[in-house]
Amino acid sequence: MPAPTTPTRDFVTGLPKAELHLHLEGTLEPDLKLRLAQRNGIDIGQSTVEEVRATYAFDSLTKHVEMFFDPQAHTSRGVPFEAVVTGYHRAAAEASSKHGVDAHLILCFLRDLSAESAAETLEASVPFRDKILGVGLDSDERDNPPQKFADVFARARELGYRLTMHCDIDQVGSIDNIRTVLDEIGVDRVDHGTNVVEDPALVEVVRERGLGLTCCPISNSFVTDDMKATEIAGLLRSGVRVTLNSDDPAYFGGYVADNYVALAEAADLTTEEVVQLARNSFEASWLGDSQRAAYLAEIDRYVAAYDATAV
Ligand SMILES: [Zn+2]
Repeated sequence: MPAPTTPTRDFVTGLPKAELHLHLEGTLEPDLKLRLAQRNGIDIGQSTVEEVRATYAFDSLTKHVEMFFDPQAHTSRGVPFEAVVTGYHRAAAEASSKHGVDAHLILCFLRDLSAESAAETLEASVPFRDKILGVGLDSDERDNPPQKFADVFARARELGYRLTMHCDIDQVGSIDNIRTVLDEIGVDRVDHGTNVVEDPALVEVVRERGLGLTCCPISNSFVTDDMKATEIAGLLRSGVRVTLNSDDPAYFGGYVADNYVALAEAADLTTEEVVQLARNSFEASWLGDSQRAAYLAEIDRYVAAYDATAV
C-alpha cells in the first residue's frame, strides 16, 4: 500500500529534511541557563552563551541545518567577533556527534544598522571564512531596502560567500525589494519572499532559476495573522522551490515538522507535496552535490520503507 494520501504527523516527523531559515538569537535566555548551571554546579556541556543558544537549534527532527547568527547583536555589546563565531561553530561541530544534525552557519547583517557596520562585520569574518557558509540580511526591512547593502553583498560574493536576504511578508514595497534582490543583488535564495506572488512574471523568474524560498508558515501567522498557506502552497504547486522552516521556533512555538503539518492541514497538501517540500529543502540548501544526493536518496528510502510498512 502506498504512503498515506494525507500526510500524517508520524510520516512528516520521520521524513528527512533540512532547515534553512532559523535564527539563533533573540528568542531564548541562555544566560539564565548558564547562571543556573554554574550556581548548581551542573556541567551542561556548554560554557558560553553562544554554545547554549546553538544547542536549542539542534532539533533532531532535522538532518541538516543552515542557521542565521547576528554577530552585530554581540559585537555591539562588546563581545569580540571571534568569540561569537568560534562559540557557535564549536557547538555546530558537536551537533553532528551529539544530535545527528549537520549544522552550518550563515552570517546575517542587521539591516537597521548602517551599511558601514555591515561592511566592517563582513571584513571581520574573513579570517573565519571556512566556518561560515554564506551571508544574509535580517531585522527591520522598513526603510532598509536591499539596495542599502548592494556593495556589501557584492563584496561578500567576491569573498566566495553564498548570498541570501530576508524579503519579509507584506512589507511596504515587498515586491520591489524582491525584484531588487533577484535582479541587482543576485541572491542564491530568498528568505520568506512569499510576496513574489504579486508579480507572476517574477514568480516565473524564481521558478526558472530554481531559487529556494525559505517560507515560515507558523511565523507568518504570528507576524501577519495569516499563515499565507494559499500563497505558499500555490507557489509550491506552480513548481517554485518552496521550503518550510521554523524561523524562531522557541518564540513561535513550532519546529520544522510542526510547520510541515500546519501547512499540510491548512492547504490540504498531499503526501507527495510534503515529500516535495522535503526534497526542496535539500535542493535549496548549500550542501555539496554528493551530500545533497545522499540526503535525497535518504528521502526516497524513507518513503519506500513507509510504503512497505503502511497498512
Ligand atoms: Zn527570519
